[in-house]
Amino acid sequence: MSKRLYIETVGCQMNVLDSELVAADLLAAGYELVDSPRRADTILLNTCSVRQHAEDKVYSALGRLKHVKTQHPHKIIGVLGCMAQKDQRKIFRRAPHVDLVVGPGQLKQLPALLERIAAGEGPQIEVSLERTAGKRSSVQASFTGHDPPRPPQARATPHQAMVRIMFGCDKFCTYCIVPSVRGPEQSRPAEEVEQEVRRLADGGCLEVTLLGQTVNSYRDTTGGRTVRLADLLYKLHDIEGLKRLKFVTNYPRHMTAELLEAVRDLPKVSPYLHVPVQSGSNRILERMKRGYTVETYREMLAAIHETIPGVAVTSDFIVGFPGETEEDYGQTVELVRQARFKNSFIFKYSPRPKTRAFDSYEDDVPDEVKRRRNNDLLAIQNAISLEENRRWVGRQAEILVEGPSKVARKRADEGSVTQLVGRTVCDRIVVLDGPEELTGQILSVTIEKADAFTLFGRRPVNPAI
Ligand code: SAM
Ligand code: SF4
Repeated sequence: MSKRLYIETVGCQMNVLDSELVAADLLAAGYELVDSPRRADTILLNTCSVRQHAEDKVYSALGRLKHVKTQHPHKIIGVLGCMAQKDQRKIFRRAPHVDLVVGPGQLKQLPALLERIAAGEGPQIEVSLERTAGKRSSVQASFTGHDPPRPPQARATPHQAMVRIMFGCDKFCTYCIVPSVRGPEQSRPAEEVEQEVRRLADGGCLEVTLLGQTVNSYRDTTGGRTVRLADLLYKLHDIEGLKRLKFVTNYPRHMTAELLEAVRDLPKVSPYLHVPVQSGSNRILERMKRGYTVETYREMLAAIHETIPGVAVTSDFIVGFPGETEEDYGQTVELVRQARFKNSFIFKYSPRPKTRAFDSYEDDVPDEVKRRRNNDLLAIQNAISLEENRRWVGRQAEILVEGPSKVARKRADEGSVTQLVGRTVCDRIVVLDGPEELTGQILSVTIEKADAFTLFGRRPVNPAI
């Protein structure tokens, strides 16, 4: 049987990483990765449940795949990730042509499940326990972390990699489905993380991004010694070959002085912190059960800027949360204007079944109001991002070249790859012209122009290449 695999990923970096890990396992099992579902024998959709829109996209993709399955019944169609955990058997009911449903805590089982389907054993499902299904230890054990070694071809670029350091979440923000679909918070042993980063660096990886839903609450107690995120950064910093270290996503309440000092003192750690605030209104923060006030968030921001010179801070916001008035929204606008985030991700509140907000609050902000607030806040943030980016014009920036830009990939079909994309240490995107061989190099460029999302750079006049 030929084994051509296509994986499509919806959602956050955690899902992108899971897809890479699944690809790594299946490459090891003899699969080949292809870039279209038409060419594949196994089609996997790695899904997200954070907002309704993400789920709708998956169900419509499954609708389109029905035709494919009718024409090619041997093709295997699988649903992985958060929606698989949330909807479970409902997926088979809504899309009976699906062969496989696997939750994010069960991805290790995937190669064996595919073999069972190929052997004619019919549709397979493997999901973890519900959070209320029993003792914490048994629920936790049902969400098994799986972080196999992976070759560079399983990653987006060979010079960069994400490494999971935490699984799950215990915060239970009232709007959020993540604690129920990704299970209890668990930290990976520091030694295991260190080995993985070392292996990646030995294989030529220059930049590692550590991932966790509340990454700054990392706490490994293996062997009776507590290792926090700051300690882990010190350990990883010594790894030879590694040039850059980042970590996302931070929880405002766990931003300690030790961590900020580690970011300041360790040259390989990027001065870039994603610390979502979600709202600028204390009333809404309380309804969200975020566990901090706008005042404490502002104090934390001040401490970040005081400790780390040149730091870039980014945030997430939810607009139109139940009960959000114009006054609450106005407080969010005020915070955005004062905080001057590098950029913000802004979302319209989406009610999620199995969350406290869904059970306790009416979704009472009309969609057109949510849309207006979303567009308005985005415009305010974009104007700030533009002003902040323009400060870079005329300055030198050190970038890691990630490869040809999307435009260049298109142009490559016409025979001229010229535009490259790279990133500064504070996560700003820089495009520049240059040969593809610069991919994976750290370069100093002069910034000549800026828009709200991109800096435009130029290489020195007499570059080595
Ligand atoms: N753990 C991260 C944190 O606490 O900031 C965020 C993880 S969540 C996958 C990413 C973002 O999605 C959140 O920061 C929030 O802004 C947004 N989000 C989560 N649930 C949402 C919902 N029900 N409706 C709209 N946006 C939501
Ligand atoms: Fe969701 Fe809150 Fe956990 Fe982030 S911290 S994953 S928003 S519950």
